[in-house]
Amino acid sequence: MEPTIIRRDQHPISRKLMPQEVLKVLYRLHRGGHTAYLCGGGVRDLFLLRSAGDFDVATDAEPRRLKQVFANCRLVGRRFQIAHILFKGGKIIEVSTFRKRSEQEEDGGEGRESLLIKRDNTFGTPAEDAFRRDFTINALYYNIADYTVIDYVGGRADLEARLVRSIGDPDVRFQEDPIRILRGIRLAACLDFRMEENTWQAMIRQREHLLECAVSRSREEIMKMLQRGNTRRAFGMLVQAGILEILLPRLHEFLKCFQEEPEPLWRYLETLDDLRISKGSFSDSVLLATLTAAPVAMFLESASPGDEVGRAIHGFLEEIFKPLAVPRMVRSDTTLLHLALRHMLAAGRRRRKRSLRNSPVFQDALKFLEVYCRTTNEAWKALEDWRHPSRQHRQRRTRKTSLFSPEGATS
Ligand code: ATP
Ligand code: MG
Repeated sequence: MEPTIIRRDQHPISRKLMPQEVLKVLYRLHRGGHTAYLCGGGVRDLFLLRSAGDFDVATDAEPRRLKQVFANCRLVGRRFQIAHILFKGGKIIEVSTFRKRSEQEEDGGEGRESLLIKRDNTFGTPAEDAFRRDFTINALYYNIADYTVIDYVGGRADLEARLVRSIGDPDVRFQEDPIRILRGIRLAACLDFRMEENTWQAMIRQREHLLECAVSRSREEIMKMLQRGNTRRAFGMLVQAGILEILLPRLHEFLKCFQEEPEPLWRYLETLDDLRISKGSFSDSVLLATLTAAPVAMFLESASPGDEVGRAIHGFLEEIFKPLAVPRMVRSDTTLLHLALRHMLAAGRRRRKRSLRNSPVFQDALKFLEVYCRTTNEAWKALEDWRHPSRQHRQRRTRKTSLFSPEGATS
């Protein structure tokens, strides 16, 4: 299979945009007589002139050889070993040998019968390594030997057309590893790309297979959708493809109640997207509290007044998050944030204010309160008071003294 070679003057990828550590790894392999390519999301993001999340390297050097080439090397992974090259300051560059199939397929596709026949030799050629990847835009290689980009799968055309397209038959690829469905949706949302129609239809057809994936993998993808931006679009696609009802059925039930109106859940996610552009990152519990803000509010409206609110919210969130096995600590913090929000919205007594302010979730509670204010356009005064307690305190003191000041006395 002959790839398209994109010369240096025909693509925008520059070494200047790569961290020193990545260049060191690529050059060390190259000088050692090996093929060394930058691959995966790093190439895709550099091609789009976006800041890349991580940089992975693919090579023909096998793991044992990598141990010899790099002193600072640790081999990880079960069947298929990947080398982690460690640098000062904790930076790790992942190097993997070209292979025929992804790790999930090697493992028999999450414990079910694999679609593919297992062969002994897992290492492959660069072409095989490209074709085992998930989407065309994730399968470009940057070759350190001559600074060209190598394209086996039409990835450049899809980057230029802003399309997410499965490599190979999408039905087969999603059955081999259903997590690709979530990866594709996250990718399209994050990059603001369209989904190629065949790929999209196969996602819908194969969605039930997501239930065969390890829950931790689905949860990780959902968390990345919440973390990486354009979350409103990602969740919109999950609903459209009928995936939300599979992964988070209780949350989906809530959405059905709002078919006719502008949906409050979407407004919360839009706020998250707006805020993230200006203010960076949020903890998992703030993200999950935002995702569940509207359902919790609705749930509390219908809860009987005698119920203990904390326990009721905790139980409700447990039902929502159970299918994704959200860890207990994160669930508890999310419950605390919902309680803190209620507490901050009700004008609290000073003593209770202090106890919330000293709580480890206070900074997150402030962020969640801001999300609430921006979404509902209410309670801005509460946000100001909680953010600047001293200012409020000082104002109160000034007001008091003014009563006894000469002006105060005469008025
Ligand atoms: P990001 O790191 O921004 O989330 P990425 O595309 O780099 O996106 P990684 O999880 O870092 O994602 O994976 C690196 C590369 O490995 C991908 O670009 C893709 O080529 C390949 N890959 C990852 N997961 C799969 C999978 N489930 N099936 C096939 N190929 C995959
Ligand atoms: Mg990556």
